[in-house]
Amino acid sequence: MPAKISKILQTLEPSATLAMAAKAKELKAAGRTVYDLSVGEPDFNTPEHICQAAVAAMKAGHTKYTVASGIPELKKAVVEQYQAVHGLEYAPTQVVIANGAKHALHNVFTAILDPGDEVVIPAPYWVSYAELVKLTGATPVIVETQQENDFKLTPAMLRAACTPRTKVLLLCSPSNPTGGMYSREELGALADVAIEKDLLVVADEIYERLVYGNHIFASFATVRPGLPERTILINGVSKTYAMTGWRIGWSISPANIAKAIADLQSQETSNPCSISQYASLAALQGPQDCVEKMLVEFAKRREFVSRRIAEIPGLSCAEIAGAFYAFVNIKQHLGRKLGGVRIDDSTQWCLELLDKKGVAAVMGAAFGAEGYARLSFATGMANLEAALGAIEDFVK
Ligand SMILES: *Cc1c(COP(=O)(O)O)cnc(C)c1O
Repeated sequence: MPAKISKILQTLEPSATLAMAAKAKELKAAGRTVYDLSVGEPDFNTPEHICQAAVAAMKAGHTKYTVASGIPELKKAVVEQYQAVHGLEYAPTQVVIANGAKHALHNVFTAILDPGDEVVIPAPYWVSYAELVKLTGATPVIVETQQENDFKLTPAMLRAACTPRTKVLLLCSPSNPTGGMYSREELGALADVAIEKDLLVVADEIYERLVYGNHIFASFATVRPGLPERTILINGVSKTYAMTGWRIGWSISPANIAKAIADLQSQETSNPCSISQYASLAALQGPQDCVEKMLVEFAKRREFVSRRIAEIPGLSCAEIAGAFYAFVNIKQHLGRKLGGVRIDDSTQWCLELLDKKGVAAVMGAAFGAEGYARLSFATGMANLEAALGAIEDFVK
């Protein structure tokens, strides 16, 4: 008899984005032409000077355990960046370097949540939030937002979602999957409710540098006085520097929470990869023109994808202010027969699109928003042109 899986793990959903990406890779391996718009990772190589710093770190013998919560140089560099860019004053001990921002989030939830606590998560949400919250025994409280309002949580919606058990508000801005971003004023209005209800706010700001047009990013911790005491910032190098495989992210928390996270990490994983930490140090401290160059490319793709979606009958998407996703409304094409098969939901739509046209997208259902599909434009222009053409064909 196979061993029983724990009750909590029985409720865990595997990552739908990674599942879609795996399916796309499978088809590719079988010789099919696949346009993969499923995965949220920059297609660029990690900039050369960062790779060189990793080589230098290895040669200098930085191949041993480091302090479990990260090397002091990297924590200091993170603190200096928040000081320089956002005027925020943190102590390096408030920073814990983790194995990616996803791990940082897991650490944070484990450190602050007890069974019965509630976490308000606006939908559409990034796939891992609700699952990571559930692992702690706490309850994700999903609040649906509307495309007409650029998928933004309003203060009234937040207030209505709060109960005496609400402990945390989770915000992701710029947003994966919607590409929406809260303005300083909008964040301020949400902060007022967070203060009134005495909430902690976990602000996932991993796309802070990938912002388009005249949109201006504001870090949640800066929008009202006193917020650093109730805010946990999440960030990392994966998206900004095309370093997804290096696995470095971090949390910045109030001192007592940071200590709990550091203690947890010392038991659970020890330090993140020493070489990756030195590479990330070079990323933060080195020339930033690589980020600018990637941003220029992303901006061209954003323009193209937005225009094409608007051209295809029955599809629409909200304005993309940041990150590298289009969250496409496919509702007009549900309940229809496409290629002889009746398609009723976003999962069927995406599976059929992959099967018939070789385009991999992720179903809105995975982000808590039925009737949508997420297209990542972290892929080359030729790929995007072919994919959007194939989607147009598919819905005709
Ligand atoms: C990619 C992503 C992460 C995780 O990033 P890693 O540092 O690679 O773990 C976290 N949050 C959001 C919103 C993301 O899109």
